[in-house]
Amino acid sequence: MRNCKKAELICTKIQYKEATILEKIQIRIHLILCRTCRIFVKKNSKLTSLCDQANLKALPAEEKEKMKKILSERQ
Ligand SMILES: [Zn+2]
Repeated sequence: MRNCKKAELICTKIQYKEATILEKIQIRIHLILCRTCRIFVKKNSKLTSLCDQANLKALPAEEKEKMKKILSERQ
C-alpha cells in the first residue's frame, strides 16, 4: 500500500477507534514502506501515540515480511 491519503484516513480512523484489524495492518505496512509518512508521524505527537498503539516498534522483522507478503497478494 503506497497510498498516503489512504494512510492518513486510516490514521484518523484509528484515533477514533474505528479502524479494522486489516486497516491497522495496512497502516503498519505503509509506515514501514513510506518514509514520508514515518517522518510525518514522528512530527505529529497525536500520530506518534497512534503509532505506539499500532505497536509498530514491537513488530518483529519476520512479521513485517509476512504482512508485506499478505498485502502484496491482496493487491
Ligand atoms: Zn505515505
